[in-house]
Parts: sequence; structure tokens; C-alpha cells
Amino acid sequence: MLSNIEKLSKVLNESYSEKTLNASLGTFFAQNFGVKGFSINTDKNPTECEFEYPVFKHKKCIGYLEFSKKTVELEKFLDITAPFISLKIQNILLSEKMQKDIDFHDTMKNIAKIIETQYELNYVIPIVGEMLDKFFTDYLIYIFIRDENVGVNALAWPTACHDKKILDVVSKNHSKELSEDKKTYIIPLLSESKNVGTLVAKSTNEEITPKDRDYLQQLSKQIATTINRANVYAEILKHATLDALTGFYNRRQLEERLKQEVSNAKRQKAPLCGIMTDIDFFKKVNDTYGHAVGDLVLKSIAKIIRGQLREYDIAGRYGGEEFSILLPFTKINEAQMVAERLRKTIENKVIDISKVNPDSETKEIQVTLSLGIYEMQTGDNDEDLLKKADKALYQAKNTGRNKVVVNND
Ligand code: GH3
Ligand code: MG
Ligand code: MG
Repeated sequence: MLSNIEKLSKVLNESYSEKTLNASLGTFFAQNFGVKGFSINTDKNPTECEFEYPVFKHKKCIGYLEFSKKTVELEKFLDITAPFISLKIQNILLSEKMQKDIDFHDTMKNIAKIIETQYELNYVIPIVGEMLDKFFTDYLIYIFIRDENVGVNALAWPTACHDKKILDVVSKNHSKELSEDKKTYIIPLLSESKNVGTLVAKSTNEEITPKDRDYLQQLSKQIATTINRANVYAEILKHATLDALTGFYNRRQLEERLKQEVSNAKRQKAPLCGIMTDIDFFKKVNDTYGHAVGDLVLKSIAKIIRGQLREYDIAGRYGGEEFSILLPFTKINEAQMVAERLRKTIENKVIDISKVNPDSETKEIQVTLSLGIYEMQTGDNDEDLLKKADKALYQAKNTGRNKVVVNND
């Protein structure tokens, strides 16, 4: 038969976390001392219980063994063994803390690795979000990304946030903030002194510890860098694919998209229409009111075109004042309606030029647009769509302008 001390020594040897130690000691005290309720309390203050026995580290109390019953035998036993139990608790707490530090550095390292290789936020943020969730198991983590253009924070991780308070605080411009109950910690994501978003941690039970606040603070820097780099990358990409004046696809990107759409349409046996447009007498606008007014007209026309299209329609700047439009899943009669609607809207649009050219006596001008349309036929190659639409445009120009002509080849 093992003595109680031997049994205790076995329990201590076999426990590697606070949780298992708690459970094993509980069973030990129940079986050998008839005390059912037991828990280790590593707080400064004991909770209310029948019998609490303090444990010390260098004469400093580091917690309590708390029991639901006090017996003389138990107390005597603890007088002898408490230092050993205390040592075990200290060991476990230290190794758990070290493990968390190791996990933290692993998380930081992994995020750093992602930043190095990935620039696509839609891809990066879910990975980072999952890492944070794994690390902070007791907290709900939210990542908001600031949209520069509209100046608002949009939730990027996870997919939904129903916490009105968080949404409210994040929507306002704010500095670092710990809620009064110390359960919600809000950190602005700052990179190169730009605010690129917000990180929020919300504890589901305990207060957020200073150590975890420190972890969050450090992680926020990494995340901010990630977002900032992705933003810079997106900006570069935008300039490489979009026309700066109109925001439409530039010629190169338009041709890329044309290839894709032609191949899609062929594969799916779906109709595809192309429209070529050219502003009428545009040279005269430039000559009369100046280039800046010409640019303004281009922008206004582009805006009208975009506004009249469906989301998956494609608009590109083919050349100077020539725009191309690709209409997937669209037959010629529908495309004709779109073109006609465009033509009319532009014909009726009054463009205010007074701000761009204050010297001009004319304050408002109107322009018209000529359009040519073609629906892709079997046997057509990539270039035919816009080439044949351009042929119809040429005809529109030659037969009076401000009109839509269909190429029925
Ligand atoms: P038409 O009705 O036959 O099309 O007459 P048009 O005057 O529009 O003739 P054309 O298409 O030859 O003229 C194109 C003009 O577009 C010439 C050029 O000065 C102008 N243009 C091209 N790109 C730009 C631009 O980016 N900004 C401005 N302001 N003008 C441009
Ligand atoms: Mg032209
Ligand atoms: Mg023209």
C-alpha cells in the first residue's frame, strides 16, 4: 500500500497543466481525505470556501488550495506537503507562460512569413484571423480595414460582427481604448502613421490581461504592416490596369478581358456583344474650351457609361476619346437597347465647365456620342468583336453621328 505522500508525489509527477493538476489533486483529496470539493486558486484573493490553504513562493502567497471541508488530518497533511504542491504549481504556471510566449512568437513569425509573400488582402486576412483565433482562445478577434476612399472601417474578419458597441466605437475615429470592464480592447492599426484599420479583442469571460494587451499591441503592428503593403500593392496594380482619367480598363487590360470574355462565351455558348463609341466633334471641344474641359467631358461620359452598365459588363478606354464596352450574356437586340439608352443619356447631359474653365463665357456644354455594335458569331476570332463594332461606328460617323449602328455581318 502506498502512503498518501507517495500517492501525492505520483499525482504531482504526472500532471503537466494547471487543469490536469487540479483534476488529479481533486480526485486524490476525495479518495484519501473524503473531501469532495477542491480547486487551485492562483488569484491573490481566496474565493469563498470552507477551508483555504495558502501556498507560498519565497514567503509570498501565490494562491490557495481551496477545499469544501476542513479536517485535522487534511490540515496536517498539507502542513507537510504544501511546499511540494506549491513548487509544482509554480512550475506549471511558468511553463504555461513560456508555452504562450513560444506560441506568440510562432504566430508573429507566421504572420511575418505571410506578409513577405502575399499581398492580396482577401487571402491574407482570413489566415491572420484564424491564427489570432487560435492564439487567443478566450477572446473574440475582429479585424476592420479602413477604406481610404470613403474613410470608413469595414469588417474583414470574421464575416460578421453583431456587437453594436464595437461597431459603434470602430465607426468613429478613436485612439487606443480599453473598455471599462476591461473586456474589450480596441487598437487602431497604424502603419507609416496612416490609420489602416482597427483590431478588436473581446474577452468572453475574464478581463483582458496586461500581458495579452501587450501581445495584441505587438500583433497590431504586424497586421497594420500587412494591410498597408496590400493597399500599396493594390494601388500599383490599379495603375497598371486602369486608365487614370476615367477609371476604366486601359487598352492593354481591355484586350486581356476581351480574350477572356470571347473564350468564356465560346465555352458556354453564350452571346457576347461589343460596342465601340467615339465622341462626336471632340476635337472642337478641346480647341474651343481647352484640354482641361476635354478631360472633364471624357470623365463625365465615362461616368455615364459606367452608371448604365451591369456590374459584370466591361468598359475600357480604347484610345483617346474612344470607349469600348463588352456585354457578356447579351444578344444584339438587348445591346442595341443599352447603346440607345447611353446615346440618349449623353445627348441630354449638360456638363458644367465653369469650374474647369472660369474664363469661358459658355458655362455649360453638351456633347453627343456615336456607337457601333456587333454580336460575336461562331468562327469569329478575338479581334473580330471590336473590329466589327468599329466598322459600325465608322458608319454611324458617316451617316450623321449621334446614332447607334448595328453591324449585321
Ligand atoms: P468625330 O466626330 O469624327 O469623332 O470628330 P472628332 O473631333 O472627335 O475627331 P477625332 O476622333 O479625330 O478627334 C479626337 C480628339 O480627341 C483629338 C484629341 O485632341 C482628343 N483627345 C484624345 N485623347 C484626349 C484626352 O485624353 N484628353 C483630351 N482633352 N482630348 C483628347
Ligand atoms: Mg476618335
Ligand atoms: Mg471623335
